[in-house]
Amino acid sequence: MKKIIITLVGVIAMISGVYFFLHSRENNSQELADGDKLRVVTTNSILEDMVHNVGKDRIELYSIVKRGTDPHEYEPQPTDVSETVEANVIFHNGLNLETGGNGWFKKLVKTSHKSFDEDVFSASKTVVPKHLTTNVNEEDPHAWLDLANGIKYVQVITKVLKDKDKKNASFYQANADKYIAKLEKLHKTAQSKYLGIPESQRLLVTSEGAFKYFSAAYHVTPAYIWEINTEAQGTPEQMQSVLAKIRKTDVKHLFVESSVSPKSMEKVSKETGIGIYSKIFTDSLAKKGTDGDTYYSMMKWNIDHIYDGLAK
Ligand SMILES: [Zn+2]
Repeated sequence: MKKIIITLVGVIAMISGVYFFLHSRENNSQELADGDKLRVVTTNSILEDMVHNVGKDRIELYSIVKRGTDPHEYEPQPTDVSETVEANVIFHNGLNLETGGNGWFKKLVKTSHKSFDEDVFSASKTVVPKHLTTNVNEEDPHAWLDLANGIKYVQVITKVLKDKDKKNASFYQANADKYIAKLEKLHKTAQSKYLGIPESQRLLVTSEGAFKYFSAAYHVTPAYIWEINTEAQGTPEQMQSVLAKIRKTDVKHLFVESSVSPKSMEKVSKETGIGIYSKIFTDSLAKKGTDGDTYYSMMKWNIDHIYDGLAK
């Protein structure tokens, strides 16, 4: 009898031990201790800036791919791994952006013992995806270049921050509301801006085909040398194809993205005698303190420079 009681006590102690262990784990992942800031990691500078606009100084923020660097292909550094391990929330673009180098981001998530939809979230979750024309099964990642999608990203980010850090929920929501209103205003301006330019001039020529979402939103036609940065860049076939498209139009200027090599576009310019108007921003923000150093500022720069380059 004594033996049975001892065993029973043991079993009960074990069960409650497991219960308390699981319960405390649950609490750890759902609620922050008082005074602890939510630790957030983003894969690139555009997401970093969106998260910063919502979380401001109430979060700790770290971004993996540095400004001016291509987020398609990346080799995570030791600091990237340690920051990801320590993070409460990780945002990536999704839509086939962070897939170069055999899926560098997926590998990082695995190494850091994080889980998709638990602590890793795709900011593009609610976007209606467009697909690559060279490979229709693959999504085109550049959804943020349409401000209406950028607003969707901000809404997803806000929801996650509010869920993970409830005590600051109203602070995050108020920041998001203000930020979204500013983005919406720019979006509305851009939607009618290009319609005054003759259609034969409204061809947006870039190195990477990053402007599908932008073009659909703002009434221009996209043309590019290569479709996505994970492909070969500037092959003779790609050059011939873009030159043929340009020659069918009255396009006044070409553009080159800040995060790719300008070499191929310079060749296109030489072949056609059409000048490169300016750099524009696609996959990365500019260095802090310069034009294009926030998501709003990069979009404003793109909208204004593309307009000027196509109109004159
Ligand atoms: Zn890209």
